Amino acid sequence: SREISGLTKVYGILADPIHHVKTPQMLNALMAREGRDGVMVPFHVSSEELPRLVDGLKAMKSLGGFVVTVPHKTAIVDLLDEVSDSARRIGACNVVRREEDGRLVGDMLDGKGFVGGLIAAGIDPKGKSVYLAGAGGAANAIAFAFVEAGVARLTIANRTRAKAEDLAQRLAEAFPGAPVDIGTADPEGHDIVANATSLGLKAGDALPLDASRLTSDQIVAEVIMQPEETAILAAAKAKGCRTHPGKPMLVCQLDLMADFLGMRALISHSSGAAS
Ligand code: NDP
Repeated sequence: SREISGLTKVYGILADPIHHVKTPQMLNALMAREGRDGVMVPFHVSSEELPRLVDGLKAMKSLGGFVVTVPHKTAIVDLLDEVSDSARRIGACNVVRREEDGRLVGDMLDGKGFVGGLIAAGIDPKGKSVYLAGAGGAANAIAFAFVEAGVARLTIANRTRAKAEDLAQRLAEAFPGAPVDIGTADPEGHDIVANATSLGLKAGDALPLDASRLTSDQIVAEVIMQPEETAILAAAKAKGCRTHPGKPMLVCQLDLMADFLGMRALISHSSGAAS
């Protein structure tokens, strides 16, 4: 079994509330499995205290980095020393690495995880026509990742149309000529149909799009992990569509996080020497 020593790298997760997070369990299991000397623990912090905590973390030499989740993904951006181009465009970070010199470097992996999960399942969005329901945090990251992956067309549909328009405009600014348009609830004519709204989390939620318009040649993908089969996935299955659940997004993201945080480069120190 693993022991924490004076050489162990420490990782955190920033959230508020924090009791429900599952990332530490999963990344600790990954580090244990791969024999890496690191540990991830909860860093419960309010929005008000976030700047003070992040400033202090720059001084913490044993820190490898941290994961960032609700409600801090947007606010963290301006507190970091460096942010990847794609995280800057999205306006959010969900993972931060601490460099040797104390600089904090952020990236956003939600969208890359979603697209990577599709690719791992043999679904390459390159050159495909994609319908995306939602314009919230997850949808923003996913929309940028789809455009970066070279989709032929991206149609964004959201309850609050102004948010879809804002997202489309930011995509067009970041990628001039990006094939982005605003859609209705009708996903007809797209190769890949993705739900990035929170509709489907709760039993009895309305469907995020008009399932009666789905055709059996479409692939329907989901961001929601629990339940494993949301109402829209069940409706898509009934229509003969191939479905893709929310779990691969998480699996792919954990992998990307472990790489970004340098977990796989950690040295495994044998326990024994006491101090
Ligand atoms: P946000 O609150 O930022 O966005 C919510 C989205 O859902 C908005 O587009 C919103 O529309 C829409 N929505 C919510 N309620 C309704 C409703 N009653 N009718 C129509 N539309 C509605 O949430 P996030 O983007 O952060 O999260 C969305 C989902 O993604 C969550 O279920 C989360 O669990 C999942 N997720 C999964 C991950 C994974 O690894 N699998 C990673 C990250 C998120 P409007 O703009 O009109 O309010």
